[in-house]
Amino acid sequence: MIIDSTQYNGMCACGRKHKMETVLSVVGCGCLREFDRYASQLEIHGCRTAVYDENTYRATADRHPTADHEIVLSPVNLHADEHGVDLLLEKLPEDTDILIAMGSGTVHDIVRYCAYQKGLTFISCPTAASVDGFCSSVAAMTWHGCKKTLTAVAPKMVIADIDVIKNAPIRLARSGFGDMIGKYVALTDWKIASHLTGEFYCNRIADMTADATRQVLESANGIAAAEDEAYTKLMYGLLLSGLAMQMMGNSRPASGAEHHISHLIEMHPESLGVHSDALHGEKVGVGTLLAIREYQAICQDTSVTFRDYVPYSADQIVSVFDKAMAADIIAENEKDAADGITAERLRDCLDEIRREILAMPDADSLGDVYQALGVKSTLEDIGVSPEILPALLDNSPMVRNRLTFMRLRKCIVK
Ligand SMILES: [Zn+2]
Ligand SMILES: [Zn+2]
Repeated sequence: MIIDSTQYNGMCACGRKHKMETVLSVVGCGCLREFDRYASQLEIHGCRTAVYDENTYRATADRHPTADHEIVLSPVNLHADEHGVDLLLEKLPEDTDILIAMGSGTVHDIVRYCAYQKGLTFISCPTAASVDGFCSSVAAMTWHGCKKTLTAVAPKMVIADIDVIKNAPIRLARSGFGDMIGKYVALTDWKIASHLTGEFYCNRIADMTADATRQVLESANGIAAAEDEAYTKLMYGLLLSGLAMQMMGNSRPASGAEHHISHLIEMHPESLGVHSDALHGEKVGVGTLLAIREYQAICQDTSVTFRDYVPYSADQIVSVFDKAMAADIIAENEKDAADGITAERLRDCLDEIRREILAMPDADSLGDVYQALGVKSTLEDIGVSPEILPALLDNSPMVRNRLTFMRLRKCIVK
């Protein structure tokens, strides 16, 4: 399967001109062996450095792309943070023109960020279907302990070899599945925000993401049965979601309240007493069910009444986040995305909000699909006490200043 992203370039009905950085994505069995052919097709010439970790080096042993330099990082204590970036920059040969990420998650984010810093051409070769970030132009990094989405560079080309991806631990595919199902919430948050504030919204980007999500949902049984076709669909969905982020220029179509729940758990502030070793998509998958359940419960409450929105205060933020993080979170929320939303505005838009929220699949039926594929579905599954659910719902919107329905729960009169 080939995605030629040049089809998304140009003027769109949304009024913007979209410009894709990724030109070509290839998903299929054995496509890593064709690396040179695709690279010359795109006229990507120059000195290549391929970056692996020890696991991905082994997993692709029979199909390493030809490269002038190979760097193999130890996966022990390797994280997508300032230390990981320094480690790679120290080892990076001066003459590198093209950086190839041979991996998913950590290696991928580190390489992407370094490629951006050094102004190098970036090529992505995912080795697992674990996240939707491969095609995005941002890197999910932990910077001085704080979870951040940093500007980085999108790959010019993606080569996703299903032979390799299918052999990765199934937990990674389950995680990618969870990351994708989260789009139901992310797209709903985006649409609601556009109704309420007139925030920019592009139907084409939203449709692309919705299509990617459906494909992934349909692939659940096939992934459990290790079918090539299902893995291809999952990977295609993950790449398409990243391309949608690229068209948007940020993660709006792909990340809403469900990601904020996941990010808050990842930041594990002391006040919450949480710590989870779960993967990104596992936490997002759980956050998705929590958000859908909460949103739909609010919509089904016919007696719900609203008050005007009041932004998060510095005191509130300091009471949740450790000192080192609080300053960043206060800065993040300075121009609160929901500031100015009144009870009246919410009442006026309530029918549209309800329609969007009730159009999402319900949490129980999604939960059944999770179970069939073995995807983690509860806070307990990811090692988090269910007792902190209210704190997660109340505080997670602070991690990202983005208008979500979760942020607007503050307007509900209880
Ligand atoms: Zn558009
Ligand atoms: Zn994600």
